[in-house]
Amino acid sequence: MRPEDSELQELVQDLHQRASPWLPAGCGSRLDWGPPVQAAPPVLSTARLNRIVALNPEDFTVTVQAGTPLVVLQQELAHHRQWLALDWPWGSGPRGENSGSVGGLVARGLAGGYRQRYLGVRDQLIGIGLMRADGTAARAGGQVVKNVAGYDLMRLLTASWGSLALITEVTLRTLPQPPERRGLWLSGPAQALAAMARWLLDSSLSSERIDWQQGAAGSGLLLSLASISAQTLEEQVACIRERAPELQVQELQPEELLERIGHGQGHGIDQSVATSPWLLRLGVRPSALASLLAERSLARMHWSFGAGSGLGLAWAPGDALAGYQVEALRRFCDGLGGHLAVLRQPAGTAIPAWRDAPSRPLIEAIKRQFDPKQQLAPGRLPGVQPTPLAGR
Ligand SMILES: Cc1cc2nc3c(=O)[nH]c(=O)nc-3n(C[C@H](O)[C@H](O)[C@H](O)COP(=O)(O)OP(=O)(O)OC[C@H]3O[C@@H](n4cnc5c(N)ncnc54)[C@H](O)[C@@H]3O)c2cc1C
Repeated sequence: MRPEDSELQELVQDLHQRASPWLPAGCGSRLDWGPPVQAAPPVLSTARLNRIVALNPEDFTVTVQAGTPLVVLQQELAHHRQWLALDWPWGSGPRGENSGSVGGLVARGLAGGYRQRYLGVRDQLIGIGLMRADGTAARAGGQVVKNVAGYDLMRLLTASWGSLALITEVTLRTLPQPPERRGLWLSGPAQALAAMARWLLDSSLSSERIDWQQGAAGSGLLLSLASISAQTLEEQVACIRERAPELQVQELQPEELLERIGHGQGHGIDQSVATSPWLLRLGVRPSALASLLAERSLARMHWSFGAGSGLGLAWAPGDALAGYQVEALRRFCDGLGGHLAVLRQPAGTAIPAWRDAPSRPLIEAIKRQFDPKQQLAPGRLPGVQPTPLAGR
């Protein structure tokens, strides 16, 4: 179902009357990621709700309908030397191909290395329009950065995986594109890299991202520095070189920096990963990250983690790991006070995508309020361990 704006409310009201389950969607680029949806409900896509409603470069805000492709929005903002300070979603192409919709980005709520400087998608959201399961349209937040009116539904619907309501429109804050950017790749002994990461996080250098990465070219720290002044960045690079004589510091050309950032977004993944991968989302306290990255199973995977957030993605071909090894990695993560979500897993494995959160009763109570007939994205409620599908 790909309704026009004018058809949406009636369609949702009709589905509600028949208590029919349905799955909110955007471009459908990552609809099968995460826990399997129960009863294979019809998909309601926002693909036709794809208008840029209001672009205010002076106020650094933009309002778009939820089905607007992320790549289209970034291209439009680039005309004004502005951008949404977010990474391309994992699995996108180098220029944002297959990066999905803005509504899907918010509904999944994931962020990459740029979170270090610009925070996550949740923090860039200043207004939201939604449709509840009963067809009631609602709004929260506003169109300007400084608005405090009402209940913060933006934060509640971010990372709700389509389980609470259909996001119909979002207002986001934009940023000026940084005039100057420098990229560095630091490699060397793990302990020296960990010490450098700690120093960088505590320093006043203008790091946009400090990513721990492991890929075909080995592991190391990817650093992106941004400023209005090339001179400032020159001094910062010299300072980093001085700080870590035992590390190899490679300066990256702009396209090399994009390529390395792209690695963290799954660019250039080979077919065996694209078709039947392990794709895991892990998170620990930043101080525990070096211990996590030393874990044996992660040696068989490619990964990218924000040094300042402790959050990241790890991926590998389906035959690189067995299910029990991923379960063991999850226990190891738990032992470090962290978490592991399985976003994709090879056919034939059925590891729960996530486990119960301590706040499960509250989550279920909120779900009952928003979706009393349990119609939306059945079996996919973040914080509630999904029940395995029959026969899996
Ligand atoms: C750095 C980074 C890494 C990411 N990595 C991943 C990743 O590994 N896996 C992943 O799944 N996503 C990831 N994302 C999120 C990714 O942005 C979204 O999955 C993507 O944008 C999907 O867009 P889509 O329109 O194709 O959504 P779809 O594939 O159609 O849907 C994706 C999800 O969003 C829900 N949804 C979509 N549109 C709406 C709406 N309007 N209202 C309510 N719910 C909606 C769907 O029910 C589904 O759960 C990442 C994002 C970033 C920034």
